[in-house]
Order: sequence, then C-alpha cells, then structure tokens
Amino acid sequence: MKQLVILSGKGGTGKTSLAAAFAHLAHDGHLHIQAVLADADVDAANLELVLHPKRLETHDFTGGSVAVIDAQLCQGCGNCEQACRFDAVIPPTNTQPAYAVDPIACDGCAACVYQCPEEAIHMQPQTAGRWYRSESRYGPLFHADLYPAQENSGKLVTLVKQNARLLALDTNCQVVIVDGPPGIGCPVIAAAAGADLAVIVTEPTVAGVHDLKRILQTTTHFRIPALVVVNKVDIYPQGAAEIEAICAELGVELIDRIPFDPTVTTAMLNGEPVTAYRPEAPSSRALAAIWQSVAARLIPSGGSNA
Ligand code: SF4
Ligand code: SF4
Repeated sequence: MKQLVILSGKGGTGKTSLAAAFAHLAHDGHLHIQAVLADADVDAANLELVLHPKRLETHDFTGGSVAVIDAQLCQGCGNCEQACRFDAVIPPTNTQPAYAVDPIACDGCAACVYQCPEEAIHMQPQTAGRWYRSESRYGPLFHADLYPAQENSGKLVTLVKQNARLLALDTNCQVVIVDGPPGIGCPVIAAAAGADLAVIVTEPTVAGVHDLKRILQTTTHFRIPALVVVNKVDIYPQGAAEIEAICAELGVELIDRIPFDPTVTTAMLNGEPVTAYRPEAPSSRALAAIWQSVAARLIPSGGSNA
C-alpha cells in the first residue's frame, strides 16, 4: 500500500481539484487502482463537496483540555490566577462570585491544577472537531471538521490518515490518496509523514514561486520524493519559467503543466471532478497524463485490473 500526498504552498492552487481528479481516474481509469481517500485539509475540507459521499460513521475528536474550577471547593486564595501565564483565570466579580477559567484563553498547561491547595481544579478534555468515515462513488473517504478556534489540527490530520491507512491495509487497497492542507505548518508535516510520493501543485505567480520553494524544503527535509505540477501555467509565463528553473536547480521533476481552463471551476460548481465532468477538456487531458505518471511511480507493475 502506497501513500500519495497532494500539497501546495498555499490554498487556492487547485489542490482539491487535482485530488478529486486522481480519485476519479484511479477508480474509473484503465489501471483500476483501488484507493482510499483522505481529506487532510481539516480546516477547510472540500473534497466532500466534490465527491458527495455518504457518511457511514461520525466520531468526536478530542483535542486538548482546559482547566475547570469547582466553585464549591474554591477558597479564593488566588494561587491559580498567579500561576496562569495566559491570563485565563478570571477573578471573582460582582456577577460571578468565584474564580473561573476562560476556556478560550486557557492553554491547557495545567499549572493552576498543581498550585491549588484545595484540589478545586481539574482538566476537562474538549471536543475540538469531528472526523468521518464515508463512502464516495470513487471509494472510501475519511475526512474531518476542526471546530473554529480549535488547535491540534496536526493531531486530527494524523487521525484521519491513520484510519485511511488502516482501511487500505484491511481491504488490500493499493493507494491512499491524501489531500493535504496548504502551507508548511504542523498539519502539512502530519499529512506528508510517511508518504511515498508528494505531488506539489503550484501556480506561476510571485507568491506561488516563493511558496513552492518552502514546501520543497519541507519534502526534502523529510526525504519524501516530490513531483511538481504547475496549474494555470499560461497565466504568467515568466513565473512558469521560474518554477521550471527552481525544479531544475533542486533536481525535482516537473511532471506536467495544466492550462488555465474555466471548465475546472464549472465542474467544481457542479460537484464533479473535471475529469468526470468533461474528459475532453484541456485540463482533464493534462490531469489524465499527470495521473498516468503518478500511478506509474506508485505502482510500477500497474493496477489490479479487477
Ligand atoms: S491550565 Fe494553564 S492556561 Fe489554563 S487556566 Fe490553568 S494555568 Fe491557565
Ligand atoms: S487556587 Fe484553587 S482555591 Fe485558590 S482561587 Fe484558585 S481554584 Fe480557588
């Protein structure tokens, strides 16, 4: 079982369009590759909007913990307020007679718990989001929602990926296709960890060139083989030339270029991968060629032909 992760230095480069197209081409293409899909962009999960899966399971995701003060036990010594470096402990007021904790400000460090002589404070785990197992027309999909203002998205990404991997192993699927989060932060590292191949989608803009360098540093650091795809290649030829130069300099293969094609947006609005919506569109042809290259690297012997 191989893991493919699709990354981009920033959002809006067409990463999810590419992931949806790969899901379609793996399932319906002549290679018949059985794939499990994982939407690891837990802050803005969009694969669900294109694949319209049926949810089979919903699970709570417990992120960190926050301190809770038992007003009955609190004697008002103020130790907790002094111990808290995050100004999360609220002293008594006219309307609230006991010490309390602001759950938004609380970092979950538990320092106050150890400073309370009355054992009036405990740490309470917080539900920070949900993750789902669904069935899409192109195979099983694992995806998640991180609630607003919640952290630990790297942990949720790992959870989504782990479950996708386990199902792929249990059902002898050949590939896990991970739609990664944008950027280079902790969730990206979580999404890319253990990948056999990364496909990096970039755009020929000044920001795109800059972001590509950063994301390639990440994949190089973690020794993940990477291929680069330039989306909307014709919007800024100078940027496209710069990307080619960067790839040549870093020894990274630029596998293909996708032309600007409004069909991609139309397909997304219609809730379909562009390769299924209009296979003869210029972008679909480019995506089909890209998938051939990617699949050949992942499974050199070809698919199951099942
Ligand atoms: S757990 Fe840490 S951050 Fe939260 S209230 Fe206690 S000391 Fe402050
Ligand atoms: S340390 Fe304990 S007893 Fe003292 S104010 Fe805080 S919660 Fe109350």
